[in-house]
Amino acid sequence: MKTFVSTLRPTPAQGVCLSETAETCRQLYNYALSERKTAYRERGESIGFARQCASLPMLKRELPHLQRVHSHVVQDVVRRVDRACQAFFRRVKAGTTPGYPRFKGRGWYDSFTYPQWGNGVKREKGRLVLSNIGAIRLHNDRPVEGTPTICIIVRNADGWYAHIVCDVAPSPLPPTGKSVGIDVGRESFATLSNGVQIANPRHYRIAERTLKQTQRRLSRRVKGSNRSRKARTLLANAHLKVKRARRDFAHTIARALVNEDDHIAVEKLNIRGMVRNHPLATSIHDAGWGIFLNILLAKAARAGRVVVDVNPAGTSQLCARCGDSVPKRLAIRWHSCPYCGCELHRDHNAALNILKKGGGTAFGEAQPLGGPQNREPHRL
Ligand SMILES: [Zn+2]
Repeated sequence: MKTFVSTLRPTPAQGVCLSETAETCRQLYNYALSERKTAYRERGESIGFARQCASLPMLKRELPHLQRVHSHVVQDVVRRVDRACQAFFRRVKAGTTPGYPRFKGRGWYDSFTYPQWGNGVKREKGRLVLSNIGAIRLHNDRPVEGTPTICIIVRNADGWYAHIVCDVAPSPLPPTGKSVGIDVGRESFATLSNGVQIANPRHYRIAERTLKQTQRRLSRRVKGSNRSRKARTLLANAHLKVKRARRDFAHTIARALVNEDDHIAVEKLNIRGMVRNHPLATSIHDAGWGIFLNILLAKAARAGRVVVDVNPAGTSQLCARCGDSVPKRLAIRWHSCPYCGCELHRDHNAALNILKKGGGTAFGEAQPLGGPQNREPHRL
């Protein structure tokens, strides 16, 4: 699956129509969620996706503005509620903090989906034709690869976008016989097992400062005022800018790694509270790493490369050469092994350990990779 994003250039009337559709979907989302909540609270019943869909025609008679939204889009809203509830039950089962699916306030519902390409959505002469909304001009009408499957219409701070998800045939790259381990950095973005350090892009620091400033400005202004609204727009734009810079950076790094290596071992994410060797990492850095991983996985899957994620516990404390434990505080940036005399930068040592744990070999001899035991496919 590959997503192609195009900027939409709706006419003012189409813009209103897009906003109205999103708003109707938001109301339906909240309605469907409350229906489930009530049924559970009052009758101990759980309503499934099929049953909620079956009651849609009746609901359409009650809520006439629902009729102006394409039926597949409406169904997809119900599916979103279903997914959110299932994820909730999964979390309950797993024993993590469940967090019940939330009602979406205004401004918290910014997309709707045409789940079947060709049914309510198609492209025609540089326009995206959405049923019940109209033929919207596409700003950058680049051709998509593969077969379009679904289309998500998204509102960003600076306008509307179409995300066209396509089924793209894999195009495997020739094997290089190389493998690499990647350590999430504290002073750098990442360190590779071959010793290469990938520096934090400058935009991280700049973006962080801008975000903080804009955030402060917003909180100083009177809620609901015009000036507060303006500050909110500025903040949304700052976030958008960070997001785009981050994605661009992640694409570049991931592309280089996928071209270079057959086998890529990375640190498993989201092991909160467990040993992570970078407790001081900023939130911006963390988010950047998550996005990078998703992009890396997508590119690797397409190119036929293997990505293995490993538990990072201990990777900074063990010696990558002899395997003995060499405890060190976070402030100690150098790994100096008293047992075998191994001298390495702390992160380089950790990257080598991650590679080892991930089933790769440090010095370029590719191994047959049979071990899916610690492989966990990420949602892309
Ligand atoms: Zn050693």
